[in-house]
Amino acid sequence: MNARTVDVLVVGAGLSGLSVARFLRNDRPDLSLLVMEKSDHPGGAILSHSEEGYLAEWGAHGFLDNCEESRSLIALAGLEQEVDKAPLDKFGRFICLHGKLNPVPQTPGKIIRSNLVPALAKLRILGEMWKKPLAGEPTVADWVRHRFGKALLPFADAVFTGTYAGDINRLVMDAVMPGLRALEQEHGSVLRGLLQKRKAGKKAGKPKGKGGLPAMTSFSTGMARLPQALAAGPPLSRDILYRTEVTRIIPGTGRWGVRTRQQDLRCRHLVLALPVNQTLALLDPVTAVSPPPLDCLPEARIATIALGFTDQAKIPFGFGYLAPEQEQRFALGALFSSHMFPGRAPQGHVLLEALVGGRRHPERLELDDDELVGRVCEDLRQLIDLPHDPCYARVMRPRAGIPQLEAGYPAMLGWRDQVLAAHPCLHVCGFGWQGIGINDMTKAARKVADDILAGTREETEETEVKGVYF
Ligand SMILES: Cc1cc2nc3c(=O)[nH]c(=O)nc-3n(C[C@H](O)[C@H](O)[C@H](O)COP(=O)(O)OP(=O)(O)OC[C@H]3O[C@@H](n4cnc5c(N)ncnc54)[C@H](O)[C@@H]3O)c2cc1C
Repeated sequence: MNARTVDVLVVGAGLSGLSVARFLRNDRPDLSLLVMEKSDHPGGAILSHSEEGYLAEWGAHGFLDNCEESRSLIALAGLEQEVDKAPLDKFGRFICLHGKLNPVPQTPGKIIRSNLVPALAKLRILGEMWKKPLAGEPTVADWVRHRFGKALLPFADAVFTGTYAGDINRLVMDAVMPGLRALEQEHGSVLRGLLQKRKAGKKAGKPKGKGGLPAMTSFSTGMARLPQALAAGPPLSRDILYRTEVTRIIPGTGRWGVRTRQQDLRCRHLVLALPVNQTLALLDPVTAVSPPPLDCLPEARIATIALGFTDQAKIPFGFGYLAPEQEQRFALGALFSSHMFPGRAPQGHVLLEALVGGRRHPERLELDDDELVGRVCEDLRQLIDLPHDPCYARVMRPRAGIPQLEAGYPAMLGWRDQVLAAHPCLHVCGFGWQGIGINDMTKAARKVADDILAGTREETEETEVKGVYF
């Protein structure tokens, strides 16, 4: 085969692939690098929608500013002046309980002290210190019930509805919160683990954090600005091939073969920066002798219903609300987008983005646009004073589903590590492999770039306690 050869070939120009490529380009401009993207634009699941003065999002609405890798990516993209921030200590979140929106205190400690949790339940939460670690692969619901009691279930439900659009009776704790699971296993209790960590930090003379909570981050023209800026600048733009779908990868001695409909290529390092299920499809020829423990991961799809109202709408000031399943509501929740990021609605108007569907209610996505808007408005009116019909409505149905880290997922990660150990110049990151949030993607991308730069792969993986982006 007389194919062109590059040092690094990245499959996928979503945020993961672009991040790997941009980090590498910055650190080793001499490496030859190509990014192949099957669609005609960068960004994958990240896409913004601007219409009639409203600015809404098909996918991600933002990410927390407490991740060094994401911050350095913003700097590499030259976007520091375009960042919009909504500090979490100014923008409260709400939870729908007993048919009403309640402000949620912003830290777990404050939730426990608040009157959202009954007195007896508070004692039960403290009892966590004496609960044995749960063996096996518990679901989030089983784990929370066992450690803290059932009073915290609606809060856990809200957290995983807001991030995974998932079902806490199916998501597994080791996959979605490995940091908390590690605290439980190392210290016998999460609370004790947190106290000991704090004590150890003080003893080591670690400077106290600045205090305050992180800020939700987006860009003045929407989230799509980040992948667009990463892809558009001179360092990368000439090295991205759009409308180029990789259909097959072929392992070889010291080189990988990559087949597209247009051409064959060879590379030394091959990076698959794709959602889990798309990675599995490409890995098929590599792993035929040792197939993955799961054929595919379930995915949760949502529709976003962007609604504009005049500012007579009495939307409580804050970030948005989430409704746990026990509330039996139509919408999973809504973001109060123009509170968080002013400028997302025309003068004198506000923008709300409601979320529908998710792992538990895929059937709702079958409804037509008019019915979805009608059902969402009916639901919202019971919670928020909306004196008139929306003056703007747009239903967005992203094709991307959110990978659900459910039973068997930890085994899947173990299998991936074995595959990577057998193929040192193969690298895997992307949606669902190292978590699902943007900060998870940029951290994993940085690690892939570092592995390529070092020519090695570290086996260890971080098990920090993650922030929640909703
Ligand atoms: C509805 C929704 C809401 C979200 N909200 C948030 C949020 O508020 N905050 C947050 O932090 N995260 C959020 N996320 C997650 C976030 O969007 C993802 O973490 C991130 O976009 C994943 O990027 P990626 O590059 O790994 O994958 P993708 O964005 O899926 O990119 C993969 C790319 O690979 C391309 N591709 C696929 N197969 C091939 C092939 N064979 N050959 C060539 N190209 C190929 C695809 O076209 C795509 O462009 C949300 C996700 C969704 C779906």
